[in-house]
Amino acid sequence: MLPDNPVLKLISRTALENNTELYVIGGYVRDMILGRPTSDMDIVVIGSGIEFAEKLAGTIGGNTTVSIFRNFGTAMLRYDDYEIEFVGARKESYRRDSRKPIVEEGTLQDDQKRRDFTINALAVGLGTKNFGILLDPFNGMEDLENKLIRTPLDPYITFSDDPLRIMRAIRFATQLNFRIEQSTLKAITESRERIKIISQERITEELNKMLLSDKPSIGFDLLEKTKLLEIILPEVHAMKGVDVVEGRMHKDNFHHTLKVLDNLCKKSDNLWLRWAALLHDVGKPGTKRYTEESGWTFHGHDHLGAKMIPRIFRRLKLPLNEKMKYVQKIVQLHLRPISLSGEEITDSAIRRLLFDAGDQTDDLMMLCEADITSKNRETVRRHLNNFRLVREKLREIEEKDAIRNFQPPVRGDEIMETLGLPPGREVGILKKAIKDAILDGVIRNNREEARRFMMEKAREMGII
Ligand code: ATP
Ligand code: MG
Repeated sequence: MLPDNPVLKLISRTALENNTELYVIGGYVRDMILGRPTSDMDIVVIGSGIEFAEKLAGTIGGNTTVSIFRNFGTAMLRYDDYEIEFVGARKESYRRDSRKPIVEEGTLQDDQKRRDFTINALAVGLGTKNFGILLDPFNGMEDLENKLIRTPLDPYITFSDDPLRIMRAIRFATQLNFRIEQSTLKAITESRERIKIISQERITEELNKMLLSDKPSIGFDLLEKTKLLEIILPEVHAMKGVDVVEGRMHKDNFHHTLKVLDNLCKKSDNLWLRWAALLHDVGKPGTKRYTEESGWTFHGHDHLGAKMIPRIFRRLKLPLNEKMKYVQKIVQLHLRPISLSGEEITDSAIRRLLFDAGDQTDDLMMLCEADITSKNRETVRRHLNNFRLVREKLREIEEKDAIRNFQPPVRGDEIMETLGLPPGREVGILKKAIKDAILDGVIRNNREEARRFMMEKAREMGII
């Protein structure tokens, strides 16, 4: 089977010199067979992983350092862009209330049995006698060919022992575009409540990996199908479904969202823009109304959605810093470019969008283009054409007026000094009037025109 990899060959030579039996196992083997790039390697040593890692570091020499985790019986070594983990073969047994197993020394077979999926239990020998030989007790190779996620043992036991595997199953299905085998999927659905013993950080890490894959809809569809979504992301789950009144219905906002997300992922690999796409319509369930005149409306869903973001981020243990503000801003503004492209686009509306979106203008435009999910090709063409015009206008106005990172051309202290004003309401009014005059195109964005305007306005207000 393999391994033309010089790092594996070096490990193998060192094993020979030390008469050690060892195997490369798990993700590295899976990804090598699939032709996916990987930078982490897991090596199972029959005996002590720590001792072997230290010997290998001695062979490599130089300034190679081994990080040792005695509690876990593992050692990690960085070499040639690889992060290599060494662990003694182990046998694990679980208690009901924890995902921390009782660990004992074991054989390679024991070690393969504790793996989460058949495709993650493949091992390749690195000893002299078995170099390059694939050890595949659970037909992982066949599942790789058939693109199937399946647990090696009873799925109910596998998921109950460590419910993080529920998230990993769905994440691998998303990243690899695999299906989850039927009885495995059934066990996931029925074991879903066990996810509550997993820390939010681990769950969110898996969500991030789903979002960063080529087609995240695979994962979110599976989360919905297995009823996990209502546990971990109830706000997104709430977007599912359609209402019908007097024969009139609205679209299913969950499915619409997933289309937008997949569309966006073809254009951008920015994790936070992908979160914004997932959450852009999250205010819709809370603003849904039906009236006879207008049918279904979701007025203010942009505003409500933006308001919901901090609570969602806090619960998911996502960062509450500028990343969150970024997502909030995109959700808040996601309708603005659409409302612009209707009739004639005025310069002042463009300036206001640049002022509000600032550096996020391009990302916002990307989301808005991804938000066009109509099946009618003429409608899509019309919308895209409108957005092209908006983009052109944005470029043109930004070049002329530099609004994106707006700094007031006359600052508050200058206003006070020139007009002999104390700090207070009047200074605020003047500052806002100058800003509005620039955004509305009454004056240009420079100091001279701003000062002249300030004097006129002060006269009008009876200040001078
Ligand atoms: P990736 O690195 O893309 O996340 P991976 O399969 O390499 O995928 P790791 O978390 O690096 O995943 O784990 C390495 C291997 O350890 C897996 O292939 C699997 O065999 C095993 N493993 C990891 N987590 C679990 C788990 N929760 N339960 C059982 N086995 C696991
Ligand atoms: Mg890995």
